[in-house]
Amino acid sequence: MKLTTSLSLVKGIGPKMSNALDTAGFHTVEDLLTFLPRRYEDFSGATNIADLEPGNVVIKATCESINTRIVRRGMRVTTAVLSDNSGKVKAVWFNQPYRETQLKSGESFLFSGKFSLQYNQYQLTSPSVEQVSDNAVVDTDTIVPVYRQIKDIKTSSLRKALKQLKPLMEFVPETLPQTLISRQKLVSRSEALLALHFPKDKNDIDLGRERLAFEELFEMILAAQYNKQANAKLTGWKIPFDLPTIKKFVGALPFKLTNAQRRAAWQILQDFEHEHPMNRLLQGDVGSGKTVVAGLAALQVAQSGLQTAIMAPTEILATQHAETISALLEPFGVRVAVFTSSVKGKARKTLLEQLEQGNIDVIIGTHALIQRTVTYHKLGFVVIDEQHRFGVKQRQALLEKSPRMPHVLTMTATPIPRSLALTLYGELDISLLDELPPGRQPITTKIWSPASAPKLYATIEQELSRGHQAYVICPLIDENPDNDKKSVETEYHVLKKFFPGRSIGLMHGKLKSDEKQAVMDDFTNGKLSILLSTTVIEVGVNVPNATVMLIQNADHFGLSQLHQLRGRVGRGSDKSYCYLMLSSHNKPSARLREIESSQDGFYLAEADLRLRGPGEIYGHSQHGALNLQIATLADTKLIARAQKEAVLFLQSEEDLAKYKHLAETVEHYQRLTTLN
Ligand code: ADP
Ligand code: MG
Repeated sequence: MKLTTSLSLVKGIGPKMSNALDTAGFHTVEDLLTFLPRRYEDFSGATNIADLEPGNVVIKATCESINTRIVRRGMRVTTAVLSDNSGKVKAVWFNQPYRETQLKSGESFLFSGKFSLQYNQYQLTSPSVEQVSDNAVVDTDTIVPVYRQIKDIKTSSLRKALKQLKPLMEFVPETLPQTLISRQKLVSRSEALLALHFPKDKNDIDLGRERLAFEELFEMILAAQYNKQANAKLTGWKIPFDLPTIKKFVGALPFKLTNAQRRAAWQILQDFEHEHPMNRLLQGDVGSGKTVVAGLAALQVAQSGLQTAIMAPTEILATQHAETISALLEPFGVRVAVFTSSVKGKARKTLLEQLEQGNIDVIIGTHALIQRTVTYHKLGFVVIDEQHRFGVKQRQALLEKSPRMPHVLTMTATPIPRSLALTLYGELDISLLDELPPGRQPITTKIWSPASAPKLYATIEQELSRGHQAYVICPLIDENPDNDKKSVETEYHVLKKFFPGRSIGLMHGKLKSDEKQAVMDDFTNGKLSILLSTTVIEVGVNVPNATVMLIQNADHFGLSQLHQLRGRVGRGSDKSYCYLMLSSHNKPSARLREIESSQDGFYLAEADLRLRGPGEIYGHSQHGALNLQIATLADTKLIARAQKEAVLFLQSEEDLAKYKHLAETVEHYQRLTTLN
């Protein structure tokens, strides 16, 4: 067996599993070896039940009895009696009925969780569970890697397969220059992977992770530097700064631009005057007013006879942007059009012709904007809203639609600290909207426990009876009995009962785009009181009359995502509320406490990193705009080290092509942000 051997030929991987792996993008042995654990469960230091002391504990036990009761509407409590040779203990889970099936098997399990006094009795509350026999296939029964779920592949099968492949681990080739590795005192790539799949202790995980995070950062910084060099050679469109028009535009706005908006707009217009194509990132928290900045820039572009393409991640957003942008620009004679996949047939044909002939100045759409069939007359400016929603190829395709390099503005509401952005995005210039328009009322944010759901619904009803509207967000579309997350399907029935007579709209990713648009229109026009949605509603949606948001299973979302969701309310002049519903009546985490007390996206992004548990390290593309898989923004020291090495590498006579894998990855990162 070799690294290139197909997984279907590996003993212990049956046809069903190899198919599932294949669909998920794992074809060869090497693919699986480089599939990193998402986090670890620490089951070290197991104690006898008889010796348990209050606090975080680990026990190895079997389940004597288990049952689930429904205590209140929507609240299922599973109680088990666990035992080992020394004694018994009660364990309780909330809304995790699948524990019953899992534990009834009579096997021996490891439990890790909090042991404390609840209602006059000591119990284990919501412990995590690991089947001992699943776990016996790894060398240790202490620190257990947890992988991202691939289809319905059992964790135990995945671990068995990896165990099989363990001897091949040492053949995983080195990707970084040897001199760099010794200078930075890193472990080799194969040592790192071995340590991460089969950690002996926490130190193993740290060393493995350090190595791979370093590699990721090094590649990313190197790519940015190469891009910078390449960009310096490109010629773009020179767009003159037409002060009277800009003044007229600013004067006609129903509000005064914030200083931050002025500064950003000015920076963009300055860039336009250079022959060099702009490559700028506009970072601004939700509601900071990025759209008007883009609109102003598009006006200047139209004025010089060039076209602007504005790309949004969803049709709903594209449509909404189109409304905003046409209201802003049409008074100035700018021809604005919206192009999504719902524009079909004759309308589509006409639109494309007009675009090609230059009869459209600004076109707003989704991915549809980069289909092969779309030809531009003179594409001078590309705006990408929430860049991380676009794949590499899509971005590339858009940029290939112009004979000269268009100016590019990328807008993001996921802020990263400026110093880090400068390093990691070396080739991008950055504008920051660091102030919100005046007069925004803070959104009152409050954590609720499931027990108080009826009271919360009554509170929401009060807001509705004032003529306002509400969002209710659930993590899932359909009910999944295997976990405690709520779905829009089940929540719909609950809402029907609590809000009789109120019209409720359903929104989720499985709807067709015209269906989504219809629901959105009804909500925008006030025909719907409640919009029940998955997180598809996350970015950009703007309905100022919606003043309440309820987020179910709030503990399952990251801080930045909660902040983005919350940004859908508080968009008008009325007081707004965001209610975070816990999955169980466990105490809210420190993370949720942070979002309750802060509205500052930058602060929350940092708090998210600070509070991230040591177990939660991998696979979180936690910072969308960055696509970091292993490293995090909290790795400031590692980032500095990687930057130093990137500079050394560029200065040295090293030939990138000599390092095949490195060259490929760097090229991949280059394509993420490059202009050509
Ligand atoms: P985001 O940065 O989240 O994309 P938007 O561009 O959607 O924010 O703007 C949010 C809201 O703020 C919009 O309704 C917009 O009209 C309004 N807005 C933008 N700039 C200002 C300003 N300077 N003063 C008052 N309201 C503004
Ligand atoms: Mg926006």
